[in-house]
Amino acid sequence: MTELAVDPAIVPSSIERTPYDIIIEILTSLPAADVVHLLSTSRTLRSYYNDEQIWRILSRQFGVTDTASFNNRPFRIIYTCLLYKYGPLLGLWAGDHAFSGHVLEFRLDQGSELSESCIIGEFWRFRRPQIFHMDIDKPPEQPRYIPTIRIGFAPGTDAVRITCCAPANGAQINTHQAHIHHVEQTTNGVFLGGDSFMALLQHPDFPRSTDATWLDRRRPPIPLSTMTAPTPSRRSFGVINPLFGLAWQFVMSVHLGNTDVVKPRAISLSCDADCVELEFPTLSIRVDNSVTPRYYPLRGEVRQGLDGWAEEWSPASLVGLWLGWYGPHGTECLFIDWNEENETLTGIKLTGDENVPRGVPSWEVSAKLPYHLSTEEEMLCAQILGDRVACRKYRGTGTTSGAGFLPSEHGHPPILLAITGPDELGVIWLDGGFMLQNMRYTGRRY
Ligand SMILES: [Zn+2]
Repeated sequence: MTELAVDPAIVPSSIERTPYDIIIEILTSLPAADVVHLLSTSRTLRSYYNDEQIWRILSRQFGVTDTASFNNRPFRIIYTCLLYKYGPLLGLWAGDHAFSGHVLEFRLDQGSELSESCIIGEFWRFRRPQIFHMDIDKPPEQPRYIPTIRIGFAPGTDAVRITCCAPANGAQINTHQAHIHHVEQTTNGVFLGGDSFMALLQHPDFPRSTDATWLDRRRPPIPLSTMTAPTPSRRSFGVINPLFGLAWQFVMSVHLGNTDVVKPRAISLSCDADCVELEFPTLSIRVDNSVTPRYYPLRGEVRQGLDGWAEEWSPASLVGLWLGWYGPHGTECLFIDWNEENETLTGIKLTGDENVPRGVPSWEVSAKLPYHLSTEEEMLCAQILGDRVACRKYRGTGTTSGAGFLPSEHGHPPILLAITGPDELGVIWLDGGFMLQNMRYTGRRY
């Protein structure tokens, strides 16, 4: 239980003479932990403990408006046993898995005739990388949602149970007890070891700074127990595509080490049989990992898309979560950030690949400098954009790399960012002569 953090003016003795309506208002505006604490410390307030109205209002904050799908349990039970503790998980989380990253989403599942409502955590999944299929001119895919962890009432009791959904095993019958922990801030970052380099190589920090704009700072604190020292267990992620043969026996191992960047508090997931840990995006290189991934709260709000030529359009309207097409790597998630001071737009990778990993800007363009196109580039734009060639464009650089993101292999070739629609943009790689499509993530499509 957390410490009581209410205004000293609202001590129980003065609350006792307060009208009911105001008490309700006070209680329902307090952080969840404080309500539970306050109601259990004051004798007068304890009489409100069975007042469903309070618990109904509090439950509504997490989207629960009806008890039917919870087997008609009282709101008090739904709130104090489930929502108070696990409700703050609802929303998107960005995992720090080396290279790939991972997106995790907690949502309220409405249940069915056979199952009660619960909170469910799902991984976003896109199709596997297909290195021999360039497939440049494709729209990004929408994610598929893979149920991973379920938080709900055990049948016939008021006890909450956390179980894995056994996604990696594919066997839905075998579910195990799973755990969600709070992990403290850390300066640890990922370092890579491999046959091809002499010393450990620092992998990009994720997040790159405590000010990373994709971090959701408004997410309420989560009253979960803290895991201090994760138990290392060695597992491999990524596959060696048999088609690559011996040339691709490229194996890396992940290690923890200190970096200059403090990463904020996060959560971690585990299952007694490693199912949750085994579910991760596919790479085309093999990475031996003994590090428990951390998940950071990810801003998920969706801004209204505007036509590029509308008067009220500004680069700020692009801020948020986008899905980008990366040819052979398939779809990856980006967070577009607008820096008003420098007038730069940056597409930061939240998920990545063995060439350009998560946490690294995929591209950066300037909205300040006028751009000039050579005749050749103008012809390329006309050819790629067709009748949309007059759209708003910005010039900048992209990020490229060979497999492994080794510093000697980084490149920053010129790109154009073309605003091709209210929720669409294209990244034109001028040297390559092609455009990759991006779409704003406008929320869940079931
Ligand atoms: Zn499991």
